[in-house]
Amino acid sequence: MRQMKADIVIIGAGSAGLCAAYQAASAGADVLVADENKLPGGQLFKQIHKFFGSEEHRAGVRGYRIGEQLLEQVEHSGARVLLDSLVYGVFPSEGQTAPPPMGLIHQGRNYALEAKKIIIAAGARENYLPFPGSTLPGVMGAGAAQTLVNLHRVLPGRRVLMVGSGNVGLIVSYQLLQAGAEVAAVLEAAPRIGGYGVHAAKLRRAGVPILVSHTITRAIGENEVQEVEIAALGEQGAVIPDSKQTIAADTVCLAVGLSPMTELAWMCGCRFAYIPAFGGHVPLHSEDMETTVNGVYVAGDITGVEEASTAMEEGNLAGIAAARSLGFLSDAEAARKKHEVLERLEKLRSGSFGQLRRESKTEQLAAMCAYLEEAANGA
Ligand SMILES: Cc1cc2nc3c(=O)[nH]c(=O)nc-3n(C[C@H](O)[C@H](O)[C@H](O)COP(=O)(O)OP(=O)(O)OC[C@H]3O[C@@H](n4cnc5c(N)ncnc54)[C@H](O)[C@@H]3O)c2cc1C
Repeated sequence: MRQMKADIVIIGAGSAGLCAAYQAASAGADVLVADENKLPGGQLFKQIHKFFGSEEHRAGVRGYRIGEQLLEQVEHSGARVLLDSLVYGVFPSEGQTAPPPMGLIHQGRNYALEAKKIIIAAGARENYLPFPGSTLPGVMGAGAAQTLVNLHRVLPGRRVLMVGSGNVGLIVSYQLLQAGAEVAAVLEAAPRIGGYGVHAAKLRRAGVPILVSHTITRAIGENEVQEVEIAALGEQGAVIPDSKQTIAADTVCLAVGLSPMTELAWMCGCRFAYIPAFGGHVPLHSEDMETTVNGVYVAGDITGVEEASTAMEEGNLAGIAAARSLGFLSDAEAARKKHEVLERLEKLRSGSFGQLRRESKTEQLAAMCAYLEEAANGA
């Protein structure tokens, strides 16, 4: 079998992976980033809206521009970015102390991939919602619609029903409007809107109804979606029978949450915690983003779904820590850089919007401390 080696292998060239690559390669490490896509950037190149926050988090800059800036930095840092490159497995053996070898399909060829450190930055996947008619053509994830519109310039349909009012549902609805589609309504099963008020307000100003305590009960059509049936939900979340109504739509977009892509971390043997606010099971990690498996780091949505700015900062942390552990950064230099990143992360997780994420991250770090304590006592 063909072989590839690097000091640090990063799985995923999204916000987190690119920042990790930049930090580690600019410190002097031989870095290889593998991404299964044909284009780097992960979710960033779909994000045509301007980012929020402060100047240091590139507020006011559109997501795809941030992606271009990151790519430029990574190119100058000397990291190798392999596209069309799927890491399909990680294969630990008993008693192994180094990070396990990986299996890579690069442009159709199989390789054994070895690294002194691994950073898994595989992102998140969209959740699905089953309902009668949900397999009809025209029903898709909101992220898929976003890819069609913002990357391929193709409208998924003319009249869209969006299910889910988190930020993804709200932002993608607005982007569909901008692309020329009609958004029949945004449905939200909870009694309140999930995403930021500023995104909801833009939709309302454009005349899009946002129906809280509502769900889709059926997609109707012979060979594709032609109509949808929606209904109001009562206090216990049950459908109120006489509230059902049918509306015309040829596309249903599901924006019903994201789940971290944790398969490779499970294969490595990492310990996990179940944190609903982060999208489910997430790998335990230290402040340096190192998991319970020596030399295996995680960063970005795989550690808990947040947003692109936090993914970038976690990538920075993982890249700095991996480079330090291999001697490419002095302890003092790494500590200085880490301190700056942690300060920025703290700001991102502050305020009322960041509170739940801050609490969830604290819970995740506390579970890691408990694990380390348990391991030390057992040793
Ligand atoms: C559909 C969707 C829409 C979103 N919209 C917004 C938004 O509007 N604003 C916002 O702030 N945040 C948004 N987010 C969240 C935001 O994109 C993320 O927080 C951030 O981009 C995560 O960065 P990441 O690097 O962790 O993952 P990603 O950007 O998803 O990158 C992960 C990369 O890993 C690659 N990969 C995965 N597994 C493998 C493997 N086994 N081998 C090789 N490559 C692999 C993928 O191809 C992908 O390129 C969205 C997320 C999703 C899924």
